[in-house]
Amino acid sequence: MDTDVLIVGAGPTGLMLANQLARRGVRHLLIDRHDGPARETRALGVQARTLEIYQKLGIVGRALELGKPGHGANLWANGVLKGHVPLGDAGREITPYPYILILGQDDNERIMGERLSALGGAVRWNTELVALEQRAERVAATLKMPDGTARTIQAAWVAGCDGAHSAVRELNAIAFPGAPYEQVFFVADVEMTGTMVPDEVNVYLWKHGFHLFFPMRGTDHWRIVGIVPPALRGSDTLAFDAVVPSLRGEAGSALAFKACSWFSTYRIHHRAAAEFRKGRCFVLGDAAHIHSPVGAQGMNTGLQDAYNLAWKLALVVQGKADAALIDSYAAERMPVAQSLLRSTDEGFRLVVSDSAFAGLLRTQVVARLAGLAMKFRRVQLAAFRAVSQTGIGYRKGPLADGTLPDDAPQGGDRFPWLKLVMQSGGAAEDLFATLDDLRFHLLAFGQALPFGLPDFGGLVAAHAVPDDAANDAVLAHARIPHRSFYLIRPDGYVGLCGGTLDADSIASYFHETLYVRDR
Ligand SMILES: Cc1cc2nc3c(=O)[nH]c(=O)nc-3n(C[C@H](O)[C@H](O)[C@H](O)COP(=O)(O)OP(=O)(O)OC[C@H]3O[C@@H](n4cnc5c(N)ncnc54)[C@H](O)[C@@H]3O)c2cc1C
Repeated sequence: MDTDVLIVGAGPTGLMLANQLARRGVRHLLIDRHDGPARETRALGVQARTLEIYQKLGIVGRALELGKPGHGANLWANGVLKGHVPLGDAGREITPYPYILILGQDDNERIMGERLSALGGAVRWNTELVALEQRAERVAATLKMPDGTARTIQAAWVAGCDGAHSAVRELNAIAFPGAPYEQVFFVADVEMTGTMVPDEVNVYLWKHGFHLFFPMRGTDHWRIVGIVPPALRGSDTLAFDAVVPSLRGEAGSALAFKACSWFSTYRIHHRAAAEFRKGRCFVLGDAAHIHSPVGAQGMNTGLQDAYNLAWKLALVVQGKADAALIDSYAAERMPVAQSLLRSTDEGFRLVVSDSAFAGLLRTQVVARLAGLAMKFRRVQLAAFRAVSQTGIGYRKGPLADGTLPDDAPQGGDRFPWLKLVMQSGGAAEDLFATLDDLRFHLLAFGQALPFGLPDFGGLVAAHAVPDDAANDAVLAHARIPHRSFYLIRPDGYVGLCGGTLDADSIASYFHETLYVRDR
């Protein structure tokens, strides 16, 4: 076998997967057909859940240093500020990162690439997957090498992180149903001044669609994403100047443009792969799902796909679990992609529909209603959880198990961000910072650890959380029952939970649900 995991594509998804496999000591080969990293910013919004993963990967400090936190969004219609959507207030108790970090895809890729080098990994550029043949125990993958020759290598698994036109998906004949939207988007990186609220996202709704202004690093730098006006849709040679009149008309005549460093137009599709796994091949990121940019979810969803797959693949490659564990990748991530497609599609149709009624709804009702709704804390929290991806869970997935009252965190939920005293008499610790993501963590509340808990060769770290007045308050707030236990997976989701902890139920969960082998 030449490698355990062949990762095709070194965009954000492939880089995240390579990093996670490298951290777990899994042999992998990361290839990309381009001659080097992409230079365009493309995706801009890094969501809180991604930053939580960046923290575990040791790159969150660098991302925060280079990025710009967007604490809220402003909704404009007919040039008038109609509503404000605060992000920070709602997210403060949910995550250490209660904002959208504005950081270009190129910077994200660079930071992940640097981390991969520090871990001893590298991207093989100018190397393209051109053919695949699945066999029982391996995949034969034919690569076009930098010198133009073909070379066939043997890999135990192949991860298709190769974008919307995925070769892994096509060579496995996995259908990619969906459709293109008729609208054409433009994206421009611009130095400019105008009515925009600084350091926040500004959404200008207009009769024919919307313009989004994202604050970028530096003074007066904005990324504008918008719909090409219907009259200009057919043009192949559109330049930024052509969309300026519509920008001025709808976002205000006070806009003053100094320079445009990047302008591109693109059509958007909404599609999801019919299968996320076929035999020994997977699809992740844009190879598995593409959708409208409403909500800045695309890149983030690919990163979560990789984080979900990596720990499972590592256990299987290292012989610690049976291959059946990996079925849960598709079972957990396909519903996320489908629900994302539905919500971004609905949101997108509302903000781009050409009908006169939709135009009226957009400019007269939506902005005002959204602004009003956001004054209610429950709405703010729900919106933050949805956009930040901290609300994504796998309750209906095959790894979710346990019985606790309905209002408590359940199997399949992201374990909440808590600060707990973990040693009697000690200070409260931020569990996101102190619990590593290379093992399972078993937290026992209101009870001692029972005798004979299995640890599967260091795969599980068990912690008896001391009774402490400060802990009681934190747990009550999180609705965690006083006497309970939570088994947290390496990716931060609850596997099993329950009341009284006993060694046998932990052992049978590992054997029967996770397919982990005794060591
Ligand atoms: C103009 C534009 C603006 C966007 N704006 C946003 C935004 O604001 N917010 C957002 O969330 N998303 C946005 N997106 C989407 C976002 O860029 C994608 O979701 C993200 O890039 C997906 O990452 P990925 O790693 O899955 O795929 P990609 O970034 O597409 O990476 C795939 C990689 O695979 C390589 N590859 C392909 N085929 C092969 C092969 N056969 N062999 C070897 N290598 C191969 C490619 O060279 C590429 O490097 C935008 C996209 C575009 C085009």
